[in-house]
Amino acid sequence: AMTANQIAAGEVVERPASVVKELVENSLDAAARHITVEIEGGGLQLIRVRDDGRGIEPEDAPLAFARHATSKIRRAADLARITTLGFRGEALASIAAVARVEMATRPPGRPGGTLVRVAGGKPPEVTETGCPPGTSVTVKDLFYNTPARRQYLKKPSTEARAIVATVERLALGHPGVAFSLSLDGRRSLATPGNGDLQAVLAALYGLEIGRELLPFNGSGAGWSLHGFTSPPWLHRSNRDQQVLLINGRYITNRLLTWAIESCYRNVIPAGRHPLFVLHLAVDPGEVDVNVHPAKLEVRLQREQDLARQVTNLVKGALFTPRA
Ligand code: ADP
Ligand code: MG
Repeated sequence: AMTANQIAAGEVVERPASVVKELVENSLDAAARHITVEIEGGGLQLIRVRDDGRGIEPEDAPLAFARHATSKIRRAADLARITTLGFRGEALASIAAVARVEMATRPPGRPGGTLVRVAGGKPPEVTETGCPPGTSVTVKDLFYNTPARRQYLKKPSTEARAIVATVERLALGHPGVAFSLSLDGRRSLATPGNGDLQAVLAALYGLEIGRELLPFNGSGAGWSLHGFTSPPWLHRSNRDQQVLLINGRYITNRLLTWAIESCYRNVIPAGRHPLFVLHLAVDPGEVDVNVHPAKLEVRLQREQDLARQVTNLVKGALFTPRA
């Protein structure tokens, strides 16, 4: 019989890439500047996310794995204006319900760290440990106790590709953070973390800015946006290199995607897709991130109006001759 924890885990932890996303988001919420992701066997054998963020105090470390334990939302009112990536206090509890998890964590000012081990929904084991400042979470044998879910997974190479796509989106959302990802000991990607979105695009996609990508930006009351879109001769057979970010959070949004793609009608061949990265900054009160457990779909106020602005800006970037 599945426990309530395992059922809830299914909502947050669909596949290895969802574990990576939750762990990296925790590192970002902890104000990390360097985030290292190590993957073995498509994430089924091992996922390790290491950061140099603020760490967790020894007395709080075991609480991190308790369901609905979050340090990020203190009052109900905070829920209407979410500024962190996590807020439900569910990820670590869910991951620990379906894997063997170890967390070593140390706030930068502390001489030593704390090691927390959790598996199979048992209470956490807590010991003192020596570790660098920051937090490292290791997830082994994902879904070892939920064979049904394990069956649904694709082969390790497919899961690894989903992890790469996830880390790419997180890196594009946070140009000021240096990301590195290795798959079975081989470096898969690394970004410089210098705050420059173009540098991230160059590092991830090997694209030359200016020649290969067209910048656009604009702002209005309560919003601003900037991004890059592809020239007419550059297009793809899929939408893997289309990235929408709202306040640094990767999202999917049909209307905004369409707002950009519609500019390419009769510009690129039918069935092909432009590449783009769009960073949108809006007041946190205007985004409802509470729609979907994985927080991918968000509800956005003034969506129609924003979509029109995006279309105009992208058309401007596409059709304005440049010197
Ligand atoms: P949420 O992110 O929704 O708060 P999680 O289950 O993902 O819930 O994490 C629980 C808590 O553990 C967080 O609120 C945070 O206090 C702490 N935590 C988790 N990962 C880290 C990390 N990498 N650095 C610092 N604190 C962390
Ligand atoms: Mg979280």
